[in-house]
Amino acid sequence: MSDSTVTQPTAELFREDAQLRECEARITAFDERGIRLDATVFYPHGGGQAGDSGELRFADGRCIAIADTRKGDTPGEIVHVPASGQDALLATLRRGDALTAHIDWTRRHRHMRFHTATHLLCALVPHPVDGCSITAAYARLDFHMSEPLDKEALSAGLARLVAEAHPVSQRWISDAELDANPGLVRSMSVQPPRGTGRVRLLEVAGVDLQPCGGTHVANTAEIGAVVVTKIEKKSAMTRRVVLGFTPAD
Ligand SMILES: [Zn+2]
Repeated sequence: MSDSTVTQPTAELFREDAQLRECEARITAFDERGIRLDATVFYPHGGGQAGDSGELRFADGRCIAIADTRKGDTPGEIVHVPASGQDALLATLRRGDALTAHIDWTRRHRHMRFHTATHLLCALVPHPVDGCSITAAYARLDFHMSEPLDKEALSAGLARLVAEAHPVSQRWISDAELDANPGLVRSMSVQPPRGTGRVRLLEVAGVDLQPCGGTHVANTAEIGAVVVTKIEKKSAMTRRVVLGFTPAD
């Protein structure tokens, strides 16, 4: 597999609508690292959230399994990483080929539910965040704080915020507006993206408001039965909170 390394920014359809499961696209470039498209619904690993997996399906029946999605070297570049063992199939790809990009929705929806739950956790634990990881199996947040946290109290708080069914929405603001409101930036490790002149704010109505580029559910009720599975003291100034779904979920 070889082709141009020249890439154009990918239309990030998941930014405006996290509910999209598929889109039409064309190959703009590909190399040993992966496949670039002119548009995609695949979220690239970032902000602690795992990259999407799924399939690229072609009208002639070819189907390429995508194991992961990563950001490329240039701004706006999104690399769809094929699963191993598809070399013969990958050798048939040509720039400009049309396809339908499908994400693994079951996996992504778990990312969205966990990710939105981490926003609820930020509201329950009013301390800076200095680490974050969101996968399909668990989510974890590291809070910069020395006080102990109560597992049952946090689980009860999450259950209440889920049951209250708060709407989740997003809007774009300019860098200048963000600079005028430094309190919006809660995270110590994941700074809002700069340089494009605008930043996306994620609001859980009445609960949390902060810059975030990840994917979220539309209402906290969609999160379902999430609980705190573990609280760890990682250091004198770090408390790690791990979230999981209840076994039946
Ligand atoms: Zn978020």
